[in-house]
Amino acid sequence: MVHHFQTEVSTLLHLIIHSLYSNREIFLRELISNASDALDKLKYLTVADDSYKSLNFDPRIDISFDKDARILVVTDNGIGMNETDLEESLGTIARSGTKAFLEKLNEDAKRDSNLIGQFGVGFYSAFMVAHSIEVTSRKAGEEQAWKWASDGKENYTIESAQRETQGTTVLLYLTEEGTEYANRWSIEGIIKRYSNHVAFPIYLTFDDKKYGEKGEEISSEKKTERINSGTALWRRPKSELKDEDYKEFYRQLGHDSEDPFLYLHTKAEGTLEYTTLFYIPAKAPFDMFHADYKPGVKLYVRRVFITDDDKELMPTYLRFVRGVIDSEDLPLNVSREILQQNKILFNIKTASVKKLLGEFKSLSENDKEKYMAFIEQFNRPLKEGLYQDFANRELLEELVRFKSTTVEGFTSFSEYASRMKTGQKYIYFITGSDAKTLKSSPLLEAYKAKDLEVLIMDDEIDEIIVPSLGMYKEWELRAVNRTGADEELGEKPDTQTESESQPVIEKIKKALENRVKDVRLSRRLHDSPSCIVADENDPTLQLAHLLKAMGQAETPDIKPILEINGEHPIVLSIKNTENEAKIADVAGVLLDQALLMEGIRLQDPADFVQRMNRLLTGYSV
Ligand code: ADP
Repeated sequence: MVHHFQTEVSTLLHLIIHSLYSNREIFLRELISNASDALDKLKYLTVADDSYKSLNFDPRIDISFDKDARILVVTDNGIGMNETDLEESLGTIARSGTKAFLEKLNEDAKRDSNLIGQFGVGFYSAFMVAHSIEVTSRKAGEEQAWKWASDGKENYTIESAQRETQGTTVLLYLTEEGTEYANRWSIEGIIKRYSNHVAFPIYLTFDDKKYGEKGEEISSEKKTERINSGTALWRRPKSELKDEDYKEFYRQLGHDSEDPFLYLHTKAEGTLEYTTLFYIPAKAPFDMFHADYKPGVKLYVRRVFITDDDKELMPTYLRFVRGVIDSEDLPLNVSREILQQNKILFNIKTASVKKLLGEFKSLSENDKEKYMAFIEQFNRPLKEGLYQDFANRELLEELVRFKSTTVEGFTSFSEYASRMKTGQKYIYFITGSDAKTLKSSPLLEAYKAKDLEVLIMDDEIDEIIVPSLGMYKEWELRAVNRTGADEELGEKPDTQTESESQPVIEKIKKALENRVKDVRLSRRLHDSPSCIVADENDPTLQLAHLLKAMGQAETPDIKPILEINGEHPIVLSIKNTENEAKIADVAGVLLDQALLMEGIRLQDPADFVQRMNRLLTGYSV
């Protein structure tokens, strides 16, 4: 029967064939990885499910080729696929994250084959080297086999077929350029590079030819040889493993052509016995901020694969970690549902998180430059940890980084603390969407004058974490855009200035009645005429925007408090006038420019411009 590919698949296929060809050879890694997953799945069933126990299962992957016919075949005797599986797996893209990513990829026309496996569309990469593909598969426990076939354009067909045992055979009709892979040496090379540590044996069948003195062929004999070393790498002692072994294993596991940023291999013995091998990728996974991200950690029990799709294996904020957990103590037939409440797994996870965070901590102390590269990628998820993982909060407080008014790049809470002035009671911060705007905020003038450092929090998530933290050690975190945060800034304006300014304040208050909560005389402004702050107990305007954007439509309409600089000429310009139109224009501009300086979009820009224009043309008093 003829089926149409889902639109996204067609887009993807087009992209793969036309742009992502820079690193074609990875198609073989993807096919082997699929075969290995299929073997893992069946192996799990043979231990966990009684109906599969009698199956005579000798897991293996076989590769063969025919150079003249331009054919390459990858076969496994794993779980297999039935008609529905074929349709769902090789006709659609299930994860919405992948779809979103594809759109982005299209826009940027990024040409990085490294991304192919990352977003889980590995199989389709075979169309980089093949003009047509046939997949013949029989699902374990079923009698009927099925053949899927496609030329990678718009359609594919599925029809019934024959296959002796369970498993899958992928047959590639190679393109002219793809023919280089119908070759013993190139296949061996690719397997050694990417798939050497696949835990199942990979066999290659080839013609072993003998040549005579004049280069003539004397004999040719079919031979089948095992190519990969095939040990579960993480079970081997560290002392036997070389850096390159770890990297090679990562390329397979993480579908990444880049080397990992770091890896951490741990064998725990004692009350709990387990091995973990964790990797931190050099670049954040593309789906890190999608709700349906693909978890990167696989669970094994005594080398038997259990699952690679369990988000409980790592806390959400460490979802960028790749790797393997292999337990000696869990029962082999542990059901995936039970895992979440499992005490053993909980303990392994707790210890693993501690270990990883400890590793990050020592990196931050011993190699600041490398740590910054890590922060560039993973600061944000670590910040999520501050409100997700209370047990490790203190450690996480030392790991997260912020921008600041006094240092270039990033700084930490503890570095801030070490620079605090004697007697300084608070850690000051300002939040908003863009560091450049924040740095020139009028709110900071008085802090600058007093030489007080302010943390620049320009990451959306900062709005959420700071209120949930409240303190760092004994210091309260204080937003500079709040009433009350100016306590440390010095004397209150004297009563004379206060009373002299009162009439102007009243005028502005009247003019802005509906737009502000209050108008006050400021003690934090030096050069600017006005600024806005939030009431001590209100959310900031930025947070209100964020909540709205997150779909919390019920967010109350929050009005800011306008602070004015009583000595500024613009403010003074309405001291002696009763011209209400002019007062309204000056007051409106004072508020709007204060909003603009905080990076907040004006609701009525036209109104602002008209007021400015009237003021620029001049009023007769
Ligand atoms: P991914 O492996 O990242 O999920 P693929 O496009 O490579 O993406 O494969 C899609 C799906 O097709 C797999 O998740 C799996 O369910 C199925 N599949 C692919 N190859 C095989 C195979 N050799 N045996 C069984 N199922 C397979």
